[in-house]
Amino acid sequence: MEKTLVLIKPDAFAQGHCGDILKMYEREGFKICAAKVLTMDKKIAASHYVEHIGRPYYDGLVEFMTSAPLMALVIGGENVIKRVREINGATNPANAAEGTVRKLYAENGSKNAVHASDSPESAAREIKIYFSELEIVED
Ligand code: ADP
Ligand code: MG
Repeated sequence: MEKTLVLIKPDAFAQGHCGDILKMYEREGFKICAAKVLTMDKKIAASHYVEHIGRPYYDGLVEFMTSAPLMALVIGGENVIKRVREINGATNPANAAEGTVRKLYAENGSKNAVHASDSPESAAREIKIYFSELEIVED
């Protein structure tokens, strides 16, 4: 089964949107294969966002992502990597389609409610940051 790494970021987590967001994946037939709540530290943030180090928004992004708890998830199913990014919507909610997670719940292009892996290589790399093999169920 294809798997992707999703984060319900500190903004959406604090606002109590986890249940609604999970429902949006579950109603498309996707499975929750792993879940945990944690607060990122700078080391995890640097590992997760390694491609963004040095970008002008990087320090603000790390500040936001380490500011409060978030929920990390492994979501599984057919074509899940592409589909979850479609369900999440464009990075900036101003450009996100109606009915997407970011259109519904994101505040701006930084505090944008969710993360999802963008390729099989990213998914494999990102899942390992948060979960051991024992913590991920196969169905
Ligand atoms: P996505 O999360 O849609 O894959 P990116 O990989 O381009 O988007 O960026 C990772 C995260 O960095 C975004 O979700 C957002 O939180 C933050 N980010 C990206 N671009 C900007 C920007 N121009 N200004 C502020 N934050 C940004
Ligand atoms: Mg990305």
